[in-house]
Amino acid sequence: MKTYQDTLFKPCVGCGMCCKHAPCGYGKWDYKNHRCIHLKEKEKINEFQTYECRIYEFIIKQPGAEFSPAFNTGCSSTFLNTDRNNIIRRLKENYSMSNITT
Ligand code: SF4
Ligand code: SF4
Repeated sequence: MKTYQDTLFKPCVGCGMCCKHAPCGYGKWDYKNHRCIHLKEKEKINEFQTYECRIYEFIIKQPGAEFSPAFNTGCSSTFLNTDRNNIIRRLKENYSMSNITT
C-alpha cells in the first residue's frame, strides 16, 4: 500500500539542495556556509557530493513528522533541481555500466 510520502514525494537522493536553501522546522541556518548546520557530507556519486541530516533519526520520531517529512524521507523539490538531476543521471549511468560484460 502506498504511503502519504509515496504519493506526494519523489525519492530523496541526498543532493542537499533543500537544506542549502532554507532550514526545516528542526534546522538552524549557518550564515557562513549558507546551509543548515545539521547538513552533513555523505559519499560522492562520481563528482557529485551527497548529504545526510545529522538529526534525521530524531526528526522522524517527532509527532507530525509524517506530514512534514525531513530530508531523506522524500523529495518535494524536484523541479529544476540540477543537483538532484545530476546525481540521478550518474546513478543511472553507473548502474548501466555495472551490467556491461566485457
Ligand atoms: S529532499 Fe530533494 S532536494 Fe532535498 S536532499 Fe533530498 S533529493 Fe535533494
Ligand atoms: S532536514 Fe536536517 S539538515 Fe535539512 S534543514 Fe532539517 S535539520 Fe537541517
